[in-house]
Amino acid sequence: MLKGKTAIVTGSTSGIGLGIARKLAAAGADIMLNGFGDAAEIEAERQAIEADFGVKALYSAADMSKPDQIAAMVASAAQAFGAVDILVNNAGIQHTALVENFPAERWETIIAINLSAVFYGTQAVLPGMKARNWGRIINIASAHGLVASAQKAAYVAAKHGVVGLTKVVALETAESGITCNAICPGWVLTPLVQKQIDALAERENITVAEAQVKLLSEKQPSRQFTTPDQLGDLAVFLCSEAAGNIKGASLPVDGGWTAQ
Ligand code: NAD
Repeated sequence: MLKGKTAIVTGSTSGIGLGIARKLAAAGADIMLNGFGDAAEIEAERQAIEADFGVKALYSAADMSKPDQIAAMVASAAQAFGAVDILVNNAGIQHTALVENFPAERWETIIAINLSAVFYGTQAVLPGMKARNWGRIINIASAHGLVASAQKAAYVAAKHGVVGLTKVVALETAESGITCNAICPGWVLTPLVQKQIDALAERENITVAEAQVKLLSEKQPSRQFTTPDQLGDLAVFLCSEAAGNIKGASLPVDGGWTAQ
């Protein structure tokens, strides 16, 4: 379905981003991976995508907290592939603390990676998408883009910002063949969430397995983690023609979290 299309997935060396990158590749898209990590492991993932799906896969080490590196990543993908048809703004980090204890440096970095990078990436891909009158911008927000939790000031502010920015971009491209939507996952078992499970286990002196059940029970009525594969399949659907008139939506995939 996506043969001949090209996609950048930010933060795709791990977790949700990697799941989405592999699903887009399985649908036929050439992929630019991005994110941090062990160079040999990233190269193995890149080669696996090419071998498993017969597409071209590239890697950019661009730091999403740096606007000039975001622009350079988009330019290099456009040059290598000829175009950037799909941008998945996924890179994100977390830090938990009460507002009065929240380190200013963590606030600035989370806003830069989780929110401002979405703006800069979108700004860089839109001219090409407009010229070709086709594009898909998929922002990985969060249930925390729709509701809040204590101790997540920067993350919740950034994700609410992403939901708002998604609507603006959808309106500005409404009459074109471009769509911009947000996916709002609840808990997904990735390294980002494993850290929070480990911290909960330590704080409450319970096992990691008990902490996992507790974390799910507090927020996610299904008591099941959403999987990166499920999010990848939703991203592929959003790239389809069937989804061509879904514009500015924020789609919860949260086991009922935000239905409460
Ligand atoms: P993860 O920690 O597994 O992956 C994060 C990715 O972002 C990694 O590839 C990492 O290298 C990359 N990254 C971090 N800082 C970067 C930077 N400065 N520049 C470039 N890449 C950078 O986390 P995840 O759980 O897969 O999260 C992915 C996205 O999904 C995030 O935006 C997160 O907020 C969102 N999300 C996650 C959950 C969840 O439960 N895991 C729920 C809702 C939303």
